[in-house]
Amino acid sequence: MDNVNLNDEIPIKAKEELKKLLNGNRNFVIGKPTAKNMCLDTLKKYAFHQEPFAIVLSCSDSRVVPEIIFDCGIGELFVIRVAGITAGPNVIESIEYAVKKLKLPLLILLGHDDCGVMKYAKEHYPEETEDFKSIISCVYPVLDKNEDINCHNYFAKQHTIWVEEVLLQKSKIIRCAVDKGELYIAKCHFDHSTGIVSLI
Ligand SMILES: [Zn+2]
Repeated sequence: MDNVNLNDEIPIKAKEELKKLLNGNRNFVIGKPTAKNMCLDTLKKYAFHQEPFAIVLSCSDSRVVPEIIFDCGIGELFVIRVAGITAGPNVIESIEYAVKKLKLPLLILLGHDDCGVMKYAKEHYPEETEDFKSIISCVYPVLDKNEDINCHNYFAKQHTIWVEEVLLQKSKIIRCAVDKGELYIAKCHFDHSTGIVSLI
């Protein structure tokens, strides 16, 4: 199971893990998941420590479930889920924890189709909304740069690219790990109609 072609510039460890996840996504897409670590025995094995192999920043959307779409089990992914993969302070620090303490080599930024946050932001831009202020403030900068975005899915992809920029700007831990080749950030998009996760 090794037919995913990835850029040679990706550090070796991150590349291995990314291949594993993309192959897992292929298993999901063809309807043949293989994940085994889904039982109480696995949980007992990891009762006092964890050894995930990648970080996934995913939307809270009920249709985007990282362990299922990447065909993974308990203890394999360090997942942060937040509406619109918006990178506020707690989200950034959660990623920093996984980078600094768990030494994970790969961060997947997983945007997706039909994202409610993108729709809401597009409907209200550039109003200062009463609700969802901190979420919206993470997304509006993408529209500040390109107000004419009409397709929500294109908007989500542009936002995912923006999230990487934000993380590199705001987090010294993430920036240093990327600079040293200890962390690779893979910007991805989940297509609801096919189930496929693709690299942006
Ligand atoms: Zn979403």
